[in-house]
Parts: sequence; structure tokens; C-alpha cells
Amino acid sequence: MVTDTTHAVMATDANTTGNLPLATSQRSSRCAPHRAHTRRQAGSDAGTTGQTDGYPHLRQAVADLPDAPGVYLFHGQPGDLPLYIGKSIHLRSRVLAHLRAPDEARMLQQTRRIEHIRTAGELGALLLESALIKQQQPLYNRKLRRNRQLCAWQVVPGSPLRLQLAAAQTVNFATTPQLYGLFASRHAATEALQALADRHGLCLSVLGLEKGVPGKACFRHMVKRCAGACCGQTSRAAHDARTLAALTDMQLVCWPFAGAVALLEVCPLDPQFVQYHVVRNWCYLGSAPNLAQARQLDAVAAGFDADGYKIVCKPILHQQTPIIEL
Ligand SMILES: [Zn+2]
Repeated sequence: MVTDTTHAVMATDANTTGNLPLATSQRSSRCAPHRAHTRRQAGSDAGTTGQTDGYPHLRQAVADLPDAPGVYLFHGQPGDLPLYIGKSIHLRSRVLAHLRAPDEARMLQQTRRIEHIRTAGELGALLLESALIKQQQPLYNRKLRRNRQLCAWQVVPGSPLRLQLAAAQTVNFATTPQLYGLFASRHAATEALQALADRHGLCLSVLGLEKGVPGKACFRHMVKRCAGACCGQTSRAAHDARTLAALTDMQLVCWPFAGAVALLEVCPLDPQFVQYHVVRNWCYLGSAPNLAQARQLDAVAAGFDADGYKIVCKPILHQQTPIIEL
């Protein structure tokens, strides 16, 4: 079976889903789908058919998926927002895994059409998936769905050490130093700090998480979980130093460039297919097939993006991918 025609149709559809928070003129370059010219092996159809038995209406759509990196979208009724958006470096295998999952039967019965957008590799797939989920809020995506009330612990300058909760809405997480997180809520931030205190013998009253009587041992000191900064058994300076050391692992990294950068990703299956993923202040601005179009994406305004931070922090800090400053 020849799939080139189908791909052309898919590619057209893909453009319509690319309306990320961008100026209209930039949409096509932002997530320009790659028109894969993969011809499937005749033998692979048999396996696909077997696994789509419960969903005959999806058989052709699954057969048309390439076994390559990208993002897939399960669409329900025309005009509705997608039911589910996912990513994989093996699109077809991943979608087949959905068909085998009994608890996903309801979603798949509602699915009328499966769309895919090729990316050069995993990084592009992660970034595009995260951006599309945030933008389109599919019914069945649990993670990444809402704009969470992101917060982090911030060290207040001066001594002795004092921590306060900083919210991403008011503090620029990409450029503010001495932030530790990220947390999806104040509750999560407090729980994390309590867990840290338990592991390192820190005092909750000294940290400001509970009220204490000055100079008097706290309850947790009596049960040997606080080393006694509250009652002078250990000095405040030692307590503060231990707190900072304990927090180190969760310190947020300030954006290490003057402006935007492009992360170059080359498709391992097809070295001709390259993408420049544009990121500024840890926020994904889009992907482009060349540097000229990548520079146009840099014009987009963007704040801090926690998902972008999580996705590109490691590739940038460990220089796992070529980085071009724009
Ligand atoms: Zn204490």
C-alpha cells in the first residue's frame, strides 16, 4: 500500500493544529510537519490489522502512521478539540499500544480520526506535545493540562536564612536566582520542604513552617527529627548551611543565554530532516526547518514555561544537542 497521498492529507491537517500561541504568519513554520515518504513494508499490515480488530474504524489510520518520531492526536467529532495528544519516537507502535489498553477503550471508541505530526526526534516531539496539550487541553490528557499555580522556594537575601514561597505569576523564574522547586501548588511546596527537613534534621519552626517558642525545643526535636536549631543544640548558621546544601538539588537554573537559542535536532532516520527548536527563558517558541525561520520565532513574547524547563534543561546544560544562539 502506498501511503504518500495519505501523508499529504495528514500534513495539511497538521498545519491546522499548529496554532500555538503565535502570530498567524508564524504558525506554519512553528510546527511544520515533515512529509515522510516512508513506504510501509507489506508484512507490517497484518500485525496492525490484528490489533485494530476492536476498532475497525481506526484500522486505516493506524496503518498509515509511520514508525518514526512525532506527535499524534486522537480526534473525535469534527470541529471538537482533540480527545488526546501524545508523543513517541515510534508513532505507530505507540498508537497500537493504546489499542491494546482496555482502560482506553472509551476514548478509542470516540476517536474518529488519528492525526500525526512528524518531528526530527524525541526532543521536538516532547516540546510539540507539551505545547499542543497546553493550547488545546484535550479531554483525556491528565498531565500538563492546566496552567498550574507554579511556585518555588526563594531564599530571601540577608541573614539569617529565610525562605519564602515565590509564585511564577509574579516572579520571573527564568532569571531570578536562588529559587528552588518547581512545585505545582503551595501545598506541594510545603510538603517537599517538610520532607527535606525530616531527611536533614532541619527545624520546621526555624524554617518558618510552624510556630515555635523562641529558645524552646520543638516537638520534632524531642522525637529526634530536628537537630535542635530551635533550642541551641546546633547553631543557626550550621542549620542554614545545612538547609542550603539540602536545597541544592532542586535549585532552578537561570536561563544561561542572553536571548533565544535554537536547539538543532537531526532525524536519525533521515538526516535531511532537521529541526531548530527555538527556546528563550526556558519557554518553547516553536520549531523551524532552518535558522532564518527560527530567528522569526524569536519575536514571540514568552514567559517562564515549567514544562519547557523540564524538557530542555538537561539537553542544554549537558550540551546533548548543538545550540545556536539567535
Ligand atoms: Zn526544632
